Amino acid sequence: TDGGDIDEFVVVGGGIGGLAAALALAVAGRQVRVLERASRFAEIGAGLQLAPNATRLLDRWGLLDRLLAVGHRPSRLVLADALRGTELAWLDLGTPFLERYGAPYVVAHRSDLHDLLLEGCRKAGVALEPARDVTEVVPDADGVTVRSADGRTNRCLAVVAADGLHSRLRALLSDDEPICSGYVAYRGAIPIDSARHRADLDDVVAWIGPGVHFVQYTLRAGALYNQVAVFRSERYRQGAADWGGPDELAQAFDTACPHVRGAAEDLRLDARWPMYDREPIDRWVAGDRVALLGDAAHPMLQYLAQGACQALEDADALARAVAAQPDDLAAALAAYTAERAPHTARVQRNARVWGDLWHADGLTAALRDDGLAGRSPTDYGATDWLYGAAPDQRASSPARAHGPYPTGRR
Ligand code: FAD
Repeated sequence: TDGGDIDEFVVVGGGIGGLAAALALAVAGRQVRVLERASRFAEIGAGLQLAPNATRLLDRWGLLDRLLAVGHRPSRLVLADALRGTELAWLDLGTPFLERYGAPYVVAHRSDLHDLLLEGCRKAGVALEPARDVTEVVPDADGVTVRSADGRTNRCLAVVAADGLHSRLRALLSDDEPICSGYVAYRGAIPIDSARHRADLDDVVAWIGPGVHFVQYTLRAGALYNQVAVFRSERYRQGAADWGGPDELAQAFDTACPHVRGAAEDLRLDARWPMYDREPIDRWVAGDRVALLGDAAHPMLQYLAQGACQALEDADALARAVAAQPDDLAAALAAYTAERAPHTARVQRNARVWGDLWHADGLTAALRDDGLAGRSPTDYGATDWLYGAAPDQRASSPARAHGPYPTGRR
């Protein structure tokens, strides 16, 4: 650093993906420094769904019990009709789910998960540097030079580029740009008493309809209520520069059932997130020493609630790959990519299809509802590929026999 020692790993970006990577590497005995552009390490004030493919890893890193203390374990994942207000199908997240996946489904405040990862990093000896806007990363035969906007320079053996959807470092591998879906999200967690239109507090509910959906669930042991409204912007389709504003939000939910329309009225309107993803790429490593991770590698539409979960899986796979070949980083990064790129490409593609299904109209919607109506709540055939353990994880660490997580209802 600035003429000093060379780091083993520098992680660029201290979001959930970057911190998870730093933690997984540090726990596996590697030396890590995280450079984050923002003036402090933080997440936004909204909720996050964490499926067993993520909570299994949090358990391994010793964070799950503490996450459960501040998170919530829903009993059901429900799909409901946003126009009629009726349930279409639900997935049982209780005992049969736990027995199948060996880890629970948890909803948590983003900042609670981020804080736990941050604290885990501190305890594991990770160096954490905010206010470091990385402008350039140059790999060479012996290492990587990392430059930031403040004029400072770091040297390391390898870089993990976890700089998010708009990743600057991805340009080392691809000249692609984020793809706008024309959908926009409004979201936020509010005190439970200010949420006037709540679903059952033990449920995660996605109300779906033509061009819209609305997600509701409780956070922080019932103190907060998280709501996400997503809709297709007509103004975007017409090519308007200013699209997805609060007027369009109101219009999009105008025909929804009273519950969903009312809940949409309670949303905070001061921030909105246009929804982007990118096409999958299969090269994640530049110069044998710079590897993409999380949204920088595979940004996806959020309809499967898997972006952060997949970033945690990346972190675990990277740490395992490095542990398997500690003296050959190039081979380790190649093995990491080979394990992760095909799977995350599948998740990216499925997220788009799932969104199309949620937002369908007419005959497609009728056929979807028919198919859903026949499903058993304990039919996990459609989620195994996503929530099951990666083959390597299964071999190296059999799922702990879980019992101690109380569910809300069943
Ligand atoms: P980010 O969170 O974007 O972090 C990137 C970090 O890098 C930031 O801190 C940024 O400041 C920093 N950075 C950027 N550039 C630089 C630079 N040049 N130098 C230094 N630092 C830099 N996922 C789930 O698993 N479950 C869900 O329920 C879920 N719901 C979602 C709902 C919505 C509406 C949206 C939009 C997404 C949702 N996701 C969900 C996806 C999830 O939020 C993301 O996939 C995840 O946060 C990505 O984490 P990341 O660390 O890769 O990127």
